[in-house]
Amino acid sequence: ALERYASIRDKPAISTDGHTVQLTMNAGLMADLPSLENSGAEGVGLFRTELQFLVRNQMPRRGELAALYSRVLDSAKGKRVVFRTLDIGSDKVLPYMKPNDEPNPALGWRAIRVGLDKPGVMRMQLQSLLRAAKGRPLSIMFPFVAQYEEYNQACLALEKAKHRERLLGHPVPEDLQVGAMLETPSLAFAPRKFFEEVGFLSIGGNDLKQFFFAADRENERVRRRYDTLNVSFLSFLENIVERCEQTDTPLSFCGEDAGRPVEAACLAAIGLRSLSMRPASVGPVKSLLRRTDLGGLRDVIHDARDRGEQSVRSAVEAYLDI
Ligand code: PEP
Ligand code: MG
Repeated sequence: ALERYASIRDKPAISTDGHTVQLTMNAGLMADLPSLENSGAEGVGLFRTELQFLVRNQMPRRGELAALYSRVLDSAKGKRVVFRTLDIGSDKVLPYMKPNDEPNPALGWRAIRVGLDKPGVMRMQLQSLLRAAKGRPLSIMFPFVAQYEEYNQACLALEKAKHRERLLGHPVPEDLQVGAMLETPSLAFAPRKFFEEVGFLSIGGNDLKQFFFAADRENERVRRRYDTLNVSFLSFLENIVERCEQTDTPLSFCGEDAGRPVEAACLAAIGLRSLSMRPASVGPVKSLLRRTDLGGLRDVIHDARDRGEQSVRSAVEAYLDI
């Protein structure tokens, strides 16, 4: 697949009406990094750090993690890598952490909730990231932030980690970007001040969609019932785009839908101009974007919505001739 798209690998994802879309890739293991060059991705929009914790049978040490993150930055050769702090709990249980018996793990004690309640691991991870950067630009993203306060607390933990690193004589990156994943509907309605303060937002479409429709992302039966191109969901995403535009907040989308060409084109059409996806999707998504009039597609989406359709999919497919 990578060969098939080799001719556009170094070309921008620019629509026929002149909108540029930034395409980045999702990663989680060192082995994913070579794809950064092969795929034509402009950076790593989502580095899922929990994978490193899941593939071993004891908690990694700070030195090991710092060495690993440093190698990731080396291999990225100056392209931006957005490190997402540990997103464990729910479906991702660490073999060396006592599993919680929760009736509803997806709605349970997971991700940033664990990070804030048991700050030891998060502190260790933040220090590893700072240490790994060795003064190079660094981007850190907190997962599953449901309210402003959680973001503030996470930032406070980061400030402490920076302070500790300075005391130990290690450099702290001057270019340190801090953001949050928007994957619970509540965060879309956070106070404007949150949008003004957060460094960037990335929509975790997998979780956001599951919570928007109250449909388990792991449950085929209900998952397939709700289309990502459902007009309610697209309107919701458009609201998020609008709030980010009003506050100049950089926004991207990193759920699996970003890697599906038709969905990706629709996301770009409603204003999501930065998409992060599995490496093999970069070529197909770019190829479709380069032959799409995003303004025209936006009108098609709005017309279908105004006609009262449940999903814009068939109108979009007709328009894109797919
Ligand atoms: C998401 O929820 O869309 C996301 C990117 O994170 P994960 O799939 O790891 O939950
Ligand atoms: Mg998620």
